[in-house]
Amino acid sequence: MQQDYGTLYVVATPIGNLRDISLRALDILASVDCIAAEHIDLTRHLLSHHGIHTSLMTLHQHNEHLVAEKIANLLASNQNIALVTDAGTPCISDPGAMLIHLLRSSGHRVVPIPGPNAAICALSASGIRSNSFFFYGFLPVKSGERKRCLTSLTTFPPCTLIFYEAPHRIVECIKDMIVIFGTHRQITLARELTKVFETFHTDNLENTLQWLLADENQQKGEFVLLLPPVFEENKATLSQDVRHTVQVLMNEFPLKQAVQLAVSITGEKKKNLYAYALSIKSD
Ligand code: SAM
Repeated sequence: MQQDYGTLYVVATPIGNLRDISLRALDILASVDCIAAEHIDLTRHLLSHHGIHTSLMTLHQHNEHLVAEKIANLLASNQNIALVTDAGTPCISDPGAMLIHLLRSSGHRVVPIPGPNAAICALSASGIRSNSFFFYGFLPVKSGERKRCLTSLTTFPPCTLIFYEAPHRIVECIKDMIVIFGTHRQITLARELTKVFETFHTDNLENTLQWLLADENQQKGEFVLLLPPVFEENKATLSQDVRHTVQVLMNEFPLKQAVQLAVSITGEKKKNLYAYALSIKSD
């Protein structure tokens, strides 16, 4: 890469509260030659809130390929460009990856400017204790495909599942989750994060569905859905004695053998003990 080439900055922007933006992000947005934005009006609103007047161009999922070439040319003429999307971190359920792949493969410099992301924001304040999580993003729009995707996740190792969902599909999505995961699976809905109507709601899937149906206002806005691993629930349902037995056996035997012995000793279901044993191991 020649030294006088410009840089593409991938800049995270607020997911609601306009003040959730880093000082470095503001510096970059004020100093680049141009900002590629998903929706110019939304980004202009953010920029004018912070007194920034940098020129804008549109980059969205339908013109990304065309604009990528234009941005490569601007970088080649030593211009610096920032990439932003409507909210949060570009490329996370948002456009940008094709542009960045193209620029990186032709040797351009791409620099991330970290900041808000709805999934991490939701997880951070959910109270779910989970060392590992799987971010799925948006599930398919059609119920059949959605259920197939959810089914494929039932065989995952224990971890928190995180989804994005649109307000007009939230009820149908929860109904499909009930079909696949059962009525008692726990869920946290994180709605309108960092905004006036920010809401965290934690309950089982069936109660959550009833809660949504009882108040249409709770179906409005933007949602992150978090499903804690099943072992979190098992911890609550297994008695102290059973948990102690599993723990002692795991100190002496490999996991599989410890679980088999624990099933014989306690009479608990193998599935529950196995999930609990895995949770101890991952802790
Ligand atoms: N790039 C963004 C990020 O880093 O989180 C995500 C963009 S994706 C197109 C938009 C989805 O993110 C929404 O449909 C919603 O599921 C989630 N989301 C964005 N802002 C949110 C907020 N303030 N509260 C809850 N969910 C939000």
